[in-house]
Amino acid sequence: MHYNSFNHVMRTRFGRKMYKLALDGGFTCPNRDGALGTRGCIFCSGSAEFAARPAGNITTQLNNAKALVADKAKDAGYIAYFQSFTNTYASPERLRELYLPVVQHPDVAVLDIATRPDCLSDEVLAVLRELAEIKPLWVELGLQTIHPKTAAFIRRGYDLPVYDEAVKSLHNIGAEVITHQIIGLPGETEQDIYATAEYIGRSGAAGVKFHLLHVIEGTDLAKLYGEGKLETLTMERYFELLAGCIRRIPPEMVVHRLTGDGDKRTLIAPLWSGNKKHVLNSMNRYFDEINLQQGSLLI
Ligand code: SF4
Repeated sequence: MHYNSFNHVMRTRFGRKMYKLALDGGFTCPNRDGALGTRGCIFCSGSAEFAARPAGNITTQLNNAKALVADKAKDAGYIAYFQSFTNTYASPERLRELYLPVVQHPDVAVLDIATRPDCLSDEVLAVLRELAEIKPLWVELGLQTIHPKTAAFIRRGYDLPVYDEAVKSLHNIGAEVITHQIIGLPGETEQDIYATAEYIGRSGAAGVKFHLLHVIEGTDLAKLYGEGKLETLTMERYFELLAGCIRRIPPEMVVHRLTGDGDKRTLIAPLWSGNKKHVLNSMNRYFDEINLQQGSLLI
């Protein structure tokens, strides 16, 4: 095994395959609604997603999402996954009202919510603690990079110590942290990318999601790309950098994702990433060739 994969860990931990049910709590993001900014992170296609949100209350969404995978998910467990926007950006009352029925749902084994580290007030953490006492709670944080220059360029909107503080607070309430890193951000060198992976590995996060930088229609990144001010990675280079990151994180860290999951219809570049099957097959071949071992370059 080249890396500690999500599927492997799920089978060991829950004794079965786990499926993610994508749910939408109807949140926005402080980086979009004007609290921090209005244009969002430079790569974020949030506005388009906002228009295409699923309708229905959360239990209906859950049942619909379950029905979609029912055929292939016999005997599987479910992870209720709130991915879009900032899923703790609301009053504690609203969060409790939304998430409590989800964690109490008999088919849900894990609650997984993505958010920003600067949207975890003490009151919000108190609600998350309640939830974590009922079922395992995963909180995903979009760090993307540890480098201040890149963070400013992508308009992330918070500084690195805010991430460190969030990881500590989430540990204290019994949540597991999954941190996101984007590989291929403008201006970052190989050393910069590896430094971020090493930092995530030491930060206390239990898992990591690696993403390739995608250029998506309607984003400010797309404008830069259109003006010829941005290059995206080739598939081969992405694999090299990804392998370098995996070699620098602890062997027990769960690797939840190895590529982004962009929408092919709005993908501008790199177009090779749209062929997921080919990408994953080529990636596995490359990992075999180099005999990749997670953590082999851990310092
Ligand atoms: S990437 Fe996340 S934090 Fe950034 S603007 Fe989009 S929803 Fe907000």
